[in-house]
Amino acid sequence: MKIALIAHDKKKQDLVDFSIAYRGIFEKHELFATGTTGLKIMEATGLTITRFKSGPLGGDQEIGSLIAKNEMDAVFFFRDPLTAQSHEPDITALVRLCDVYNIPLATNMGTAEILIHGLERGDFTWRKIVHDQS
Ligand code: PGA
Repeated sequence: MKIALIAHDKKKQDLVDFSIAYRGIFEKHELFATGTTGLKIMEATGLTITRFKSGPLGGDQEIGSLIAKNEMDAVFFFRDPLTAQSHEPDITALVRLCDVYNIPLATNMGTAEILIHGLERGDFTWRKIVHDQS
């Protein structure tokens, strides 16, 4: 599966810790991330990640374009709900596209735990069917 990883600054350590904890699952998938998030996770885990631009510079939109092409299967997006973001419209657009294409999206650690276990359990098989049909 293709998985996108994004975290706002105050949530980056949470996503790094999450990636360390679930490295064994993430390594079986193709990973993508916004610039700084991806760098931090790569440094902490050694995972291979395709990095896009930083979120405020268009990284969210780059990931959104893959979602629009049905080329992203899950998104872990640890948002900071307490800090205003300069690229709020891009964030809204990314979340919206996940809803348009029914892409599983975790915006906090609680949902991320459920999503990653579902991924490991095979709950994403329907995505393979979507890919085969397109
Ligand atoms: P970053 O972008 O990983 O480059 O910091 C994420 C964001 O802030 O949207």
